[in-house]
Amino acid sequence: MPLVVQKYGGTSVGSIERIRNVAKKIKKAVDEGNKVVVVSSAMTGETDRLIALTKELSNRPDPREQDMIVSTGEQVAIGLVALALKELGVNTISLTGWQVPIITDNVHTKARIKKIDKHRIMKHLDEGKVVVIAGFQGISEGGDITTLGRGGSDTSAVALAAALNADVCEIYTDVPGVFTADPRIVENAKKIPVISYEEMMEMASLGSKVMQIRSVEFGAKYGVKIHVRSSFNDEEGTWIVEENEEMEKVVVRGISHELKESRITLVRVPDKPGVAAKLFRALGDRNIVVDMIVQNVSHEGHTDISFTVNKVDADLAEEIAKKVIAEIGAAGVERNDKIAKISVVGLGMKTHAGTAAKMFEALYKEGINIYAISTSEIKISCLIDEKYAELAVRTLHEAFIENGEGEV
Ligand code: ADP
Ligand code: ASP
Ligand code: MG
Repeated sequence: MPLVVQKYGGTSVGSIERIRNVAKKIKKAVDEGNKVVVVSSAMTGETDRLIALTKELSNRPDPREQDMIVSTGEQVAIGLVALALKELGVNTISLTGWQVPIITDNVHTKARIKKIDKHRIMKHLDEGKVVVIAGFQGISEGGDITTLGRGGSDTSAVALAAALNADVCEIYTDVPGVFTADPRIVENAKKIPVISYEEMMEMASLGSKVMQIRSVEFGAKYGVKIHVRSSFNDEEGTWIVEENEEMEKVVVRGISHELKESRITLVRVPDKPGVAAKLFRALGDRNIVVDMIVQNVSHEGHTDISFTVNKVDADLAEEIAKKVIAEIGAAGVERNDKIAKISVVGLGMKTHAGTAAKMFEALYKEGINIYAISTSEIKISCLIDEKYAELAVRTLHEAFIENGEGEV
């Protein structure tokens, strides 16, 4: 019997009516002869609401207690999905992350899955039940509830699909697949029928939140076939698969944008060995992931160092930067929360020249200034003012996708 893992996002379970609709979809998969494991997110807006509650009590909530609170959204959702299934006569059971158990490390609010014990799930599947599992959550080896970072239900689903050796992992969401740019911003964005893990990983890490990055990493590592599709119709969506030669013909597969970063600048840092090491060691020790780093050319023995971090880490990063400048004797720390990172992604960049020039020209034509640039084999990212983010995405989409034909 084929085994499918179906993941439903927040909008898909956003109301009782939608939960009924989801239950019908699940029943259909059962009636078609599949064993089904369901992973559900919290109802739309619920995780934001719970985080806001913690913020009312504390500027920087204790991460363990935050996980305790925020993980409840998914528990409500799985109970409701299971109830809706029972109403349709489907044999089912809901399980939280710790009931499975899904074992994670103990880095609260951004934990990583270490192991999934599949025995209980297999037992229930063998009893003919649909197993409805809470996404986004797990339990640390010390027995504390953890969460996997925003959008983490995707990772729960793909990790479960890998552990259970599922035939497919279906990610049901509120758009019909992965598009060449966020369809809410670019009207002419096109659905991508097939995309490589590598391209999807880049797009996810560069702001295309349709899939959480770690879910795609899991998919790539364990070869999970992932199908991203709409929960509102039966259309084929986007398949995420191994790369093949055909894919390199497309230079730019998609445009991503990210508004969630802040830039921190250390002004007039003494230009001597060990300064960068001290700063980035201090950030690393507090589990802060640094994205872009720019160090200006030195003037009279001093230089500026800028870096970007996720906004949720910006307060702490600023605090650390201030401590470091006191030790190294720099002039000050500046912070800018109104920045955006715009990226073009495609396997074809490996073998085509000229993508960077074309990107910079397109931004220049709109008068958009670039603060920092970073590249990899298959992507180019530019840091710009947040107010130009949508304009930049549309402009680049036009240049590379609407008017582009695979050649630059
Ligand atoms: P879910 O709650 O189902 O997990 P998310 O809100 O996390 O859904 O992800 C779906 C959203 O991702 C879409 O509504 C869309 O606005 C956004 N998105 C951003 N970039 C893309 C893209 N390239 N293709 C599709 N959707 C994208
Ligand atoms: N409910 C969590 C969030 O909003 C996890 C998810 O939706 O994937 O981030
Ligand atoms: Mg999501």
